Amino acid sequence: MGEDVIIKSSVGVVGAGIQGVCISLFLVKKGFKVTLIDRDEPGKNSASYGNAGHFSPYASTPMNRPDVLVDVPSMLLSTNGPLALKWNYVPKMIPWFLKFIKNCSNKNMMHTAKYMHQILDLALPAYDELFKEIDISDLVENKGIIYFWTNKDLKSRELEINIRKKLGVEQQLLKPDEIHDLEPNIKKIYHGGVYYPSARHARNPRKILLKLLDLFLKRGGKFEKQNIETINFSSDNKPIIKTNSNSYTFDKAVIACGAFSKKLTDQVYEKIPLDTERGYHVHFKGYDHLLSRPVIFLNRGFGITPMEQGLRVVGTVEFGGLDNPISKKRILNLVNNAKYLFPELHKHHDEWLGFRPSLPDFLPVIGPSKNYKNLFYAFGHHHLGWTLGAITGKIITGMLAEENTNLNLTPYSSLRFS
Ligand SMILES: Cc1cc2nc3c(=O)[nH]c(=O)nc-3n(C[C@H](O)[C@H](O)[C@H](O)COP(=O)(O)OP(=O)(O)OC[C@H]3O[C@@H](n4cnc5c(N)ncnc54)[C@H](O)[C@@H]3O)c2cc1C
Repeated sequence: MGEDVIIKSSVGVVGAGIQGVCISLFLVKKGFKVTLIDRDEPGKNSASYGNAGHFSPYASTPMNRPDVLVDVPSMLLSTNGPLALKWNYVPKMIPWFLKFIKNCSNKNMMHTAKYMHQILDLALPAYDELFKEIDISDLVENKGIIYFWTNKDLKSRELEINIRKKLGVEQQLLKPDEIHDLEPNIKKIYHGGVYYPSARHARNPRKILLKLLDLFLKRGGKFEKQNIETINFSSDNKPIIKTNSNSYTFDKAVIACGAFSKKLTDQVYEKIPLDTERGYHVHFKGYDHLLSRPVIFLNRGFGITPMEQGLRVVGTVEFGGLDNPISKKRILNLVNNAKYLFPELHKHHDEWLGFRPSLPDFLPVIGPSKNYKNLFYAFGHHHLGWTLGAITGKIITGMLAEENTNLNLTPYSSLRFS
């Protein structure tokens, strides 16, 4: 028989990715008694470890947009493009695809853009509140980000630029010579680009996550390495979170398990259509001096970020669920794309597959559960979860503390799927 741990005035946060860690930290700062639980070492292999490290407050143009549907067939056929399918998973994902297609209307795209912008605009100030208390001097760079393109096959860049203009996002169009001045080592294959000066990048996302975790522990938070299997509720509505041998009762609980959250939300009678867009990275060790800031080559849908580990080459949207193995073809695609921009690159160092948590309307779920007032959700941040960690932590903490807010939080509610 396992131990039954009952903690008073308490919050259990399940998942120690960037959402769970930031939520836990803001909660302890507010005086909550917090236990953060993860089945793994925090940041060891999660999306919050392997992402491209962009803090992207400008990135409000969503994936659900009318032109995507037109572009998908050619993207799937292209050998160096960003999109891939694991065919054995396609039948399982049909309901998600149908909902996604519905969300590609102009109206729904603008709804997502508006409410992503609402939280993206607050993302960096929220991080700054946390970064005041840790030393991130070698870990975060404020050098913006560059997107560039060749004219061939690329219609969509104008839409993105126009939406960002409408939302008041700072952006500067770049001519080829200007791109070259900023990043002289990239092969001059581009015809144009855009620079987002507000972006920052992480030189090592995991180290940042661990520093935030350490601050949480120093503030009196607790971490437990446990795999959570079930969630039930006591007669007075307190969440009871169970592993295969232990059971924890908290006053309130937060599910922040990224792409894995659905396994738990399905148990509390919610039908949240969370799935994953799988993404990959490889490192070219010792080459980070070739870039000053992250770049994204839009035609091929991949990016390169200079990090402590070397050049981190990141990309691919692969629909294939949580259980399929890593795809060697996708790794090769990243390696070839990187060498196209930097022919001097030699052998890559390591290979990683990660899981973006994505909903078909490309808004996250942040808020209380439909059926249980003491259970909260914070997942589904898709391509922008690294950027949105701290603001999600602030919003969830405000909700648990029952504070008033000027933000319209309804668009993030799980009720939109009822
Ligand atoms: C290739 C790639 C590139 C990306 N680049 C960027 C970028 O540049 N900028 C950006 O803003 N975002 C980026 N993202 C997205 C971002 O990484 C994710 O949205 C974000 O990391 C999700 O954070 P999370 O805390 O929700 O989930 P995760 O980081 O996945 O963490 C979830 C945690 O929950 C734990 N867990 C799961 N189930 C259980 C359970 N049953 N019991 C206990 N623990 C459990 C896991 O072990 C894990 O530690 C990228 C993602 C990918 C894949």
